[in-house]
Formats: sequence, structure tokens, C-alpha cells
Amino acid sequence: MGVTQARGRICYAKMKALVLFLTALLKGKKVGISGFMHKLVSNHQICQHLEPERILQQESLRVERAEKEEREREEKAEKEEREKEERAGGTSRLQTLTKDETQVKPSDFHYLKVIGKGSFGKVLLARHRKSGGFYAVKVLQKDVIMRRKEQRTVMIERNVLLKGLQHPFLVGLHFSFQTLHRLYFVLDYINGGELFFHLQKEGAFPESRAKFYTAEMASALGYLHSLNIVYRDLKPENILLDGEGHVVLTDFGLCKEGVSVSETMQTFCGTPVYLAPEVLLGHAYSRVVDWWGLGTVLYEMLYGLPPFYSRSKAKTFEKILHAPLQLRSTVSQASQSLLRGLLERDCNKRLGRRRDLAELQDHTFFQSINWDDLLSRRVPPPFIPKLSSPCDVRYFDPEFTLLPVPASLGLSDMSEGVVSEAFPGFSYMPLVEFGVVDP
Ligand code: ATP
Ligand code: MG
Repeated sequence: MGVTQARGRICYAKMKALVLFLTALLKGKKVGISGFMHKLVSNHQICQHLEPERILQQESLRVERAEKEEREREEKAEKEEREKEERAGGTSRLQTLTKDETQVKPSDFHYLKVIGKGSFGKVLLARHRKSGGFYAVKVLQKDVIMRRKEQRTVMIERNVLLKGLQHPFLVGLHFSFQTLHRLYFVLDYINGGELFFHLQKEGAFPESRAKFYTAEMASALGYLHSLNIVYRDLKPENILLDGEGHVVLTDFGLCKEGVSVSETMQTFCGTPVYLAPEVLLGHAYSRVVDWWGLGTVLYEMLYGLPPFYSRSKAKTFEKILHAPLQLRSTVSQASQSLLRGLLERDCNKRLGRRRDLAELQDHTFFQSINWDDLLSRRVPPPFIPKLSSPCDVRYFDPEFTLLPVPASLGLSDMSEGVVSEAFPGFSYMPLVEFGVVDP
């Protein structure tokens, strides 16, 4: 019906007033569009005299626009708030995400920098888009893993990460998920750099500094042993410092699960210089393999070079098996004695073979350490990394940080919930709060 008729004009005026009133209501009180439509279509007169569809379209457009503007304002304010916090400095801010935010996928993160490279892929600094928290995301290529038949290694890493979360000196896993071609581990971002980055700069550490790091590492290894896990891969690039200067062990790819005190293993893996003799010889080995590893790292911190070092791989092997341990008197008697105990070739005589960590703790080298304080991170670190912001990557090698970040990392090459037969159960979403994981 035309709105030019006299009766129609009266109705039109009334209707216009009604529409204006409802629009004001919508804007002012943020009534949803559905409520508005309901009111509109339930009004007989309007439906009879006007073109309801056109009015509806106009109104819904107007409301949509207003909502969009509101959203943009909120996002801008959030962004400004985040930037303000960031400028204020501070350590990595792991934020608490709530339950409905736990459906994690690659595109939830903004990938900022490459910070490391491993055998199967890269490690990247990433920012969770919603929470603004920083994480280290380890991305592994499935085809490389499968080609090398290392599916088990990766699943071990995932299982161990899930188990080993409750220790202050072990890296924490927040999520793991997979796409068609990749596996993702979302880890605590440890931004103080590799321990040996700092060691290389200094040449060697004073004894007190070396003692602090050795004690924190020993405490982490003892904890893993108590869970029947042997770390096996204690080597420079797997020992990181966090923003406060505490040690954090990463990389659980070579861990062996379910190894009890008497049980041993026959698998050979690791980097030559830090390998224990029993591993090198293919003999059965047990958790004392980690105390040898700790000995090699302590030696390098005190003397600046690994104990059995040679440029040639064959000579390194030879030295590990037969060369006498050189202990120069530039370090204290207590240090020398601990090194002798840890770098004992016969694993039945090695320090820690009977009472594990407790045996090390009783050694005079650690006399000044209060182990309770150490475990609760109350012992002040001897060196505090100087970081200007949580995403400061100054302690990572430019060889990595200058690499381009592959754009494909944030793309979901997956259909929802891809499950690969080679990596069953890989994906892991905590049911409780983000960061408080109870596997
Ligand atoms: P490989 O088996 O060759 O030792 P990988 O594939 O197991 O390597 P990782 O050792 O876990 O990989 O990571 C490679 C490097 O990335 C580390 O040496 C370290 O410098 C960096 N990195 C790993 N995890 C983190 C983390 N959580 N925070 C910061 N940097 C990390
Ligand atoms: Mg590694």
C-alpha cells in the first residue's frame, strides 16, 4: 500500500516515530538486532503500511556498523593497554586463558622470530593473539620425522613434557597440536638465552656461578629420575636461562621414560662430546648417564672447554673412553673432587649411583647450597639477563633471529581436528586453566 494516502501519511508519521524511538533504544541501550526485529514484526501497523524488509535492512546495517565501531574501539584500547604494559618492561607475561580459549590452532599465534633450529624443525617466538602472552613454539615437520622414522622420539618428548611440568627448572608445555604437515609444541618462552651463549662470552665462570647452575640442573635431573625419566641429552644448547637468570632444561626428545633404578637401556643417541662412555660403547646404561653429563657441563663452565675435546670425532670418542681426566689446580679441591666423582668411567663407581641426587647434595662442593631455597627459586641468580622487553631476542643467535619467519606457519593446513595415525593423541589441550596443567 502506498504511503501517500491521507490515512497512510498519518500512519507513516506514527511509524517513523516508532522506528526512530526503537533506533534510539538500540543505540542507547545496546538492544540486540533480534530484539528490535521482534518488536518490529510484531507491530501490525508497520507490517501493513510499510516495506518492512527495507526498514529491517537499513536498521540492521546501522546496528552492525555501530557494533563494529564499538568492537574496534575496544580492540584499540586493549592494544594500547598491552603496549603500555610492554613499555613498562618486565618479564615474560604468561597470561591466564580461560577454558573457552583452549581450542588452539596455528593461526592463534603471531609468529615473530625464529629463535632456534632443531633436528626436525624450528623454534619460534610467538605471541598469542588474544592474550598477548609470549611463547616458544617448536614446529616440527612431519615428513622429516617420518623419513627418519623418529615418530617415537617425538611422542616421547610430548609425553615427557606432559609429565615434567611441575619443576621450576624444566620447560613447561602449554599445548601441543598438529596440522596436516606439522606438529606444534607451545612452550614457556625462555628468553635469557642458552647457558653456553653466556659461557662463550665469558670464557669460563667463577666457581660460585658454576655451582649455582650445576645445583639447579642437578635438582631438575633428580626430579626427572624420581619420575623414572632419564634425560640423556644434557648438552650446551639444551640448557637455557630464563629472564631472571635461572636454569631451564628444554628438549626432551631423547628422554627415556619408564627407566627404573635397576633398568637400563641399549639405545645410542646424543652429541659425541657430551656422551658418556657406556653410551659410546653401546653398553646398557641407566640414570647415572645424566650425572656424567652434568660433570661434562660443570667441567666446561669451570675450564672453558669440554673435558674430552678434540676436533676429530674419532679422537673425541677415544678420549672419552681412555684419556686421563685433566684437572688443573685453577679450581678448588671440592670442584675437582666432584668432577672426579661425576666423570667416573665406571658407572658402578660414579657419584649418584646409589642415592642419586641426594648423594650429590651431600658433596662438599654443594655445602653452601640451601636446597629448599634453591628449589623455590629463592637463591638469587649470579647473573640477571638484561632484557628491554619480553620479546627482546638479544640472547639468541642472529643466525636464527635474522631468518625469515615462514608465513605458512600461521596457516591452518588442517581440517578441524586432524589426527595423524603416526602421531595419535599428540594434540593436547589442558582442560583446566592455561598454564595450570594437570595431565
Ligand atoms: P636437537 O634435537 O637438535 O637438540 P631439537 O629439535 O630437539 O634439537 P630444541 O633443542 O628443543 O630442538 O630447540 C632448538 C633450540 O631452540 C634450542 O637449542 C634453544 O636455543 C631454542 N629453544 C628451544 N626451546 C626453547 C624455549 N622454550 N624457549 C626459548 N628457546 C628455546
Ligand atoms: Mg636440542
